[in-house]
Amino acid sequence: MFNLSTNLLDYDRAGLEALFTNLGEQRFRASQLMKWIYGEQSLDFDKFSNFSKALRARLQTDYKITVPDLISEQKSIDGTVKWLLKVDDINAIEMVYIPEDTRGTLCVSSQVGCSLNCTFCATGAQGFNRHLSTAEIIAQVWLASKRLDHHNKNRKITNVVMMGMGEPLANYNNVLPALNIMRDDLGFGFANRRVTVSSAGMVPKIDQLARDADVSLAISLHAPFDELRNKLVPLNKKYNIKMLLDSCSNFVKDKKKSRITWEYTLIDGVNDQEEHARALVKLLSHIPSKINLIPFNPFPGSSFKKSKIENIERFKQICMSSGYITTVRKTRGDDIAAACGQLAGEFMDRTRRSTQENRLAMELV
Ligand code: SAH
Repeated sequence: MFNLSTNLLDYDRAGLEALFTNLGEQRFRASQLMKWIYGEQSLDFDKFSNFSKALRARLQTDYKITVPDLISEQKSIDGTVKWLLKVDDINAIEMVYIPEDTRGTLCVSSQVGCSLNCTFCATGAQGFNRHLSTAEIIAQVWLASKRLDHHNKNRKITNVVMMGMGEPLANYNNVLPALNIMRDDLGFGFANRRVTVSSAGMVPKIDQLARDADVSLAISLHAPFDELRNKLVPLNKKYNIKMLLDSCSNFVKDKKKSRITWEYTLIDGVNDQEEHARALVKLLSHIPSKINLIPFNPFPGSSFKKSKIENIERFKQICMSSGYITTVRKTRGDDIAAACGQLAGEFMDRTRRSTQENRLAMELV
């Protein structure tokens, strides 16, 4: 049975202040509550010792503070950790922690499934189930921090990227308060540029985000030509490359040192030729940019193939010699299928769901 009362994790600081004010309480209760939840990692009303008994009882009746149940936790030999979380009776989401030398990146989901239908993405192939609530988004960071602390205090989350399942900007109203909590000192306190929203190009929402939150932006471009991008990212038919670039250049306009990260999945023979690379560098020449090349991750049912090493290398060289910081994303967590575009792929196959759940539950640490 799911408790239908309001989850206090749904509110950022401003939201909590309004909530307490409406209850006839002081605004500072919001800060106190956030210190318990995010600072002390406590979700237990009874432990909130600076709240009166009466207030605790009142909150307990009308509100809840809950995070999704952990179904499984899988660790790769390279240190990558993937968690499967149960968000309701029929839906599960995944998140991934990727440790590197100088940072630890948490990749979080914003929706169950996705409606954008990008042809090379396993999440897209599952279709759209529902938006995640703010609580379900921020709970991913909360849970991952707690689990990582539990295992090894040295493994810290330094960056959060909204590159898991779903299109974050299609779930704008729930994503924005979560971004606020991530960056709030009383929340997780991440520096603005360490929180990245990744979008397939929802132009009006990019414009809105530019006004609402000082975060980093990554755009899944994947093609320098509209005709090709229409096929790979169907959303391009609505917001074409020119509209997208205008919106992105506006996004970074007033932000010193800020760059757009362009994600470009390299698919064999589709978008990985010299002409694509040359067109790409030309396209981005007026926008502060870095380029993140992602070798395509194959998944069952997809006819696309990963680009050949020499084509990846040539593509990278063209980008670099034009002056762009260019990275080729290493495949991490291969042994636990933790790569981009693979999240929750198997689990969401409803016919196999219970078998999957059992198998994954057994791997729970
Ligand atoms: N909807 C958002 C965020 C989720 S996808 C977006 O489009 O940016 C995160 C990144 O993984 C995107 O760049 C996406 O295009 C890429 N991706 C998806 N499927 C992939 C696959 N099979 N192989 C490689 N990259 C993939």
